[in-house]
Amino acid sequence: MKNVIIIGGGFGGLTTGALLAHEGLHVTVIEKNHEIGGGLQSFTRHGIHFETGMHILGGLSEGGSVRRIFEYLGIMDKVCIKRCDLDCMDEVTYLRTGDHYQLPQGREAFTEALCRYFPAEREGIHRYLQACYDLTEEVDIFYLRPTTSVFSAHSERFMQPADEFIADFIEDPRLRDLLAYMNPMYGGVKGHTPAYIHALINVLYIGGQYHFIGRSQHLAELLADVIRKNGGEVITGKGVKSIHVEDKCVTDVETTDGTHFQGDYYISSIHVKTLLPLLTDGALPRGYVNRLTDAPVTYSAFILYLVFKPETFPYINHTGYIQDDYGQIWTHAQYDGTWPRGIMFLTPPSEHQGPWAKRMTLNCIMSWDEVKRWEHTHIGHRGRDYEAWKQEQAERIIAKLEQRFPQIRSCIDTYYTASPLTIRDYYASPEGSLYGYSKDGLDTARTLIAPVTRVRNLLLSGQCVNLHGICGVPLTAINTAECIFGFNNIVNKINETTLPHDEKK
Ligand SMILES: Cc1cc2nc3c(=O)[nH]c(=O)nc-3n(C[C@H](O)[C@H](O)[C@H](O)COP(=O)(O)OP(=O)(O)OC[C@H]3O[C@@H](n4cnc5c(N)ncnc54)[C@H](O)[C@@H]3O)c2cc1C
Repeated sequence: MKNVIIIGGGFGGLTTGALLAHEGLHVTVIEKNHEIGGGLQSFTRHGIHFETGMHILGGLSEGGSVRRIFEYLGIMDKVCIKRCDLDCMDEVTYLRTGDHYQLPQGREAFTEALCRYFPAEREGIHRYLQACYDLTEEVDIFYLRPTTSVFSAHSERFMQPADEFIADFIEDPRLRDLLAYMNPMYGGVKGHTPAYIHALINVLYIGGQYHFIGRSQHLAELLADVIRKNGGEVITGKGVKSIHVEDKCVTDVETTDGTHFQGDYYISSIHVKTLLPLLTDGALPRGYVNRLTDAPVTYSAFILYLVFKPETFPYINHTGYIQDDYGQIWTHAQYDGTWPRGIMFLTPPSEHQGPWAKRMTLNCIMSWDEVKRWEHTHIGHRGRDYEAWKQEQAERIIAKLEQRFPQIRSCIDTYYTASPLTIRDYYASPEGSLYGYSKDGLDTARTLIAPVTRVRNLLLSGQCVNLHGICGVPLTAINTAECIFGFNNIVNKINETTLPHDEKK
C-alpha cells in the first residue's frame, strides 16, 4: 500500500484524497485550520450557519459529472442540496433601467427565455449557445469522457476572450452584457478570460443549479469520511511549514508543531503561490517558480452575511444578480463612489425550509488594492479603521439592495462581513483570490499548470490547476489521481460504475 501525504484539506485535497483512498492508497490529509473544508468551510453565528465560500452548485443533475463522481465515492445520497426553481435559476436586475430578467434551467428553456427578452437576436442567441456547448465538447473531462491524447487540439474560439466571443454572435449591447452575468462566478476579465471558461461555467449552471441545504461543510465531512473509512486520516490545526526535497524527490514535510510526515507521494492542494516558498530552494526550475510567483490571480470579494428577523423576508429559491447598469459587467472590481456595481445574492435554504428566509449571503467583487493597507494585520486584530471601513462597505451594499428590495433594511436583525483579507487568511489564498490563477487567453502558457511537477513524487491538485469550483476541482482531482493510477483509469472506473449499461463503452 502506497502512502500519500496531501497538503491542504480543502475541496481539492479532500476529493483527491477520497479518490485515492477509494483506490486503496493510505492517505493523510494535513489541514492548517482547525476545521477542514477550505472553500467548503461554514461558520456559525447566533445559531445561524453561513458558507465562507462555495454556495452555487452545478454538475449535480442526473448524469452530471460531479454527481457521478460523488456516486462513485458513495456519498451522493448524503449530499444535502436543493435545486433552484426550474423556471428561474437566476434573476438579473439592472437598477438604472429597472430591467429584470428571469433565466430558467435547461438549454431549451434558457434559450427561449433569452429569445423572448431579445426577439431580434433570436438567431444570434441560438448560434451563441451552440458555440458555448461546442466549446465544452472540446473538454473530455467535463463530460467524464476518457481522453485519447495528452495533447488536446482546440478550436480557435477556445482561447478567444469571452467578451469578444459573445460580441461575435450578439449585436445588442444590453444582451452582450446580460450574457456575461455569471462573470463573478469565474473572475472574468475583459479581453483576457478565455471563451472556454465562460462556456464551461454557463453550460454547467444551465444544466441545473443547486444550493447547499444547511452547511456546505457537510460535503467536506463526507469526503473526509471516505478517507477515514479506507484507513486514512485527516489532521487539522497543523500547517505544513516546509517540504524537503532531495535529488528531485520529496523526502518529508514538516508541520508547524515540528512533526515530520513521510509518504511515497505528496500532493499539494494549496495555492501554488503559497506552496512555492515551502519547498527546499532549487527544488523546481527557476523559470517555473518565477512564472508562477508572478502570474496574476483572480480577483477577490467583499461578502455580507445578513441575518433576518423571524418571518420578515421571503425565502427565494434562486440566485440573484443586481447590476447598477449595462456596460459594467467587466468592471465590477473597480472601486469608486459607485461600488458595488454588481451584487450576487442568495438566501441559502435551511433543512426544513419554509416560506421565510433566515439569512442572505451577498458577494461583491472587490480588488485586493482596497485592503492592501491592512495586509500586515491578522484576523481579529486589524484595528478600528478597518472595522469602520467594513461597516461602510456593508452600508453601501445594503443601500443598493434596498433599490431591489425596498423593505429589506427593516428585516435585518444583524450582519457579518468578510473582506479579501479574511479570504486570504482563511485559505492562504494570495490577495484573497477567489478562484486561483487568472486564466488569460492571450497568454495561455503563463498560468498553465500540470498536475505533475519536476519533483518526481510531488503532484498538484486544487483550483490552481485547471478550473475552480464545484465542478473544476473534482475534475482536477481525477487528473491528479490518474498521475498515480494511469491515464483514464479513474474516469473509466467512474463510467463503469455510474453510467447506464447502454452508455458504457
Ligand atoms: C467567497 C467565495 C465564494 C465562492 N463561491 C463559489 C460558488 O458559489 N460556487 C463554486 O463552485 N465555487 C465557488 N468558490 C470557489 C470554490 O470555493 C473553490 O474553487 C474551491 O473551494 C477550491 O478548493 P481548493 O481545495 O483548491 O482550495 P481551498 O478550498 O482554498 O483549500 C485549500 C486548503 O488548504 C489549506 N492550507 C493552505 N495552506 C496550508 C498549509 N501550509 N498547510 C496545510 N493546509 C494549508 C487552507 O486552509 C484550505 O483549507 C468560491 C470561493 C470563494 C472564496
